[in-house]
Amino acid sequence: MSGIVIIGAGEAGTRAAFALREAEYGGAIAMVGTEPNMPYERPPLSKPLDGAVQMKAICSAEALDAAGIEYFPGRSVSWIDPHERRVVLSDGQALAYDKLLLATGARPRQLCCPGAERALDFRTFADASTIFSRVESARTVAIIGGGLIGMELAAVLRGKGVAVNIIEAASRPLGRAVPARFAQSLHARHVEEGAGFYLGQGVAEVRSDSVVLADGKQVPADIVVAAIGVVPNIELAQAAGLATDNGILTDSFLRTSDRHIFAAGDCAAVAQPGGGHVRFESWRNARNQAETAARNMCGANETFAAMPWFWSDQYDLGLQVAGVPQPRHQIVLRSLDGGVLEFYLEEGRLVAAAGLGTGNSLAKEIKLAELLIMAGVNPDPADLEDPAVNLKALLKTARAA
Ligand code: FAD
Ligand code: NAP
Repeated sequence: MSGIVIIGAGEAGTRAAFALREAEYGGAIAMVGTEPNMPYERPPLSKPLDGAVQMKAICSAEALDAAGIEYFPGRSVSWIDPHERRVVLSDGQALAYDKLLLATGARPRQLCCPGAERALDFRTFADASTIFSRVESARTVAIIGGGLIGMELAAVLRGKGVAVNIIEAASRPLGRAVPARFAQSLHARHVEEGAGFYLGQGVAEVRSDSVVLADGKQVPADIVVAAIGVVPNIELAQAAGLATDNGILTDSFLRTSDRHIFAAGDCAAVAQPGGGHVRFESWRNARNQAETAARNMCGANETFAAMPWFWSDQYDLGLQVAGVPQPRHQIVLRSLDGGVLEFYLEEGRLVAAAGLGTGNSLAKEIKLAELLIMAGVNPDPADLEDPAVNLKALLKTARAA
């Protein structure tokens, strides 16, 4: 019996499976996932409470059963036959489909230098378990890559009193997705906490007791973790003849170049209204795309238009970024008791907002900023700057107008 097959049991795949039932899809749903576990959340892996790695399940086996979702853990899809509309699993089993969702995610980018195989990846629960169990007997950890994973892991390790050095190719850490002011504040906090930084440095070799930098300097390390970004898992799609680039290309409805196949999450590069395709690598994006793709697989015609948003926790600091801040945007700063907010304006229109504060202290302001962005407001920058001006009142005025 064919129905809907989902490849990948991460955030996007699992969310899509349940969203299909929420959309009242009554056919068979099969979800295939390479990892052996029940589907789990990745964000807690790099934010372990008291330093112990957590497995936070997305759903229970009972919930999958109750929703009539057949789960094939520990098995991979080896190939897709788009003409016969079936997929073949690693053990030879074939599953027919009416519609297929590719939710294959991404995998760690690999270092390429002598000794690269000594560096540990950080993507899965198994990776996190290996890293945290080895850390117990380590004196010094070197983290290659000062991106979100590298910095979150460094914060956890400093909390455990482990010596940490971060080696980053760019001249500053968190240069990719984090607004410059907040990247600088987080960098400063890491330095205060005793993390070491080697910036603007390539890696020449990973040895059993150190990392050798391009300039010949040796950074001592009992454990080396590579966190130098991810590459989308697009090979299955490519082999099936689907259009790919830096991701599996979809239209704004999350349909690939084959009308029976959709894609969502870290693997999907989605057509943008202004042209081109964008691929995001964040938790909420995976969920939102999964929900839209599920409804569209059930016959809806919904354009994917959710606002990008991500968070990061480092030490007692919480960062949130809504929208996509760009260097060309006008920045308006609002200082609050718990932290600092930045608003980003493009030709007067509010298009993004970000905040860094203690714990979750700025969550309410960021939520209101998101609503203001969605309302398409052109606020007076003086109002945004003034902490006495209530964002809720601005929203009310905007809605009334
Ligand atoms: P994935 O989670 O990568 O899931 C894809 C799954 O598909 C994988 O399990 C993979 O094994 C499986 N698969 C691939 N190919 C096949 C195949 N052929 N057959 C069967 N199965 C296959 N985002 C945030 O916004 N905030 C955070 O704080 C945050 N923290 C993070 C911390 C860590 C340590 C990591 C690794 C990521 C973090 N992220 C965070 C990013 C977020 O977790 C990802 O964007 C999200 O998990 C993407 O979900 P996905 O389902 O698209 O892909
Ligand atoms: P990332 O955020 O893309 O950061 C990778 C960093 O490594 C970049 O700063 C990159 O610099 C640097 N780098 C690349 N090659 C290098 C090399 N050879 N030597 C030294 N540095 C190098 O990726 P990540 O931290 O590995 O995270 C992986 C994924 O998990 C991403 O999808 C990320 O979004 C997700 N994640 C998200 C969160 C969150 O949202 N809170 C938390 C953890 C993980 P250049 O930019 O100059 O290449």
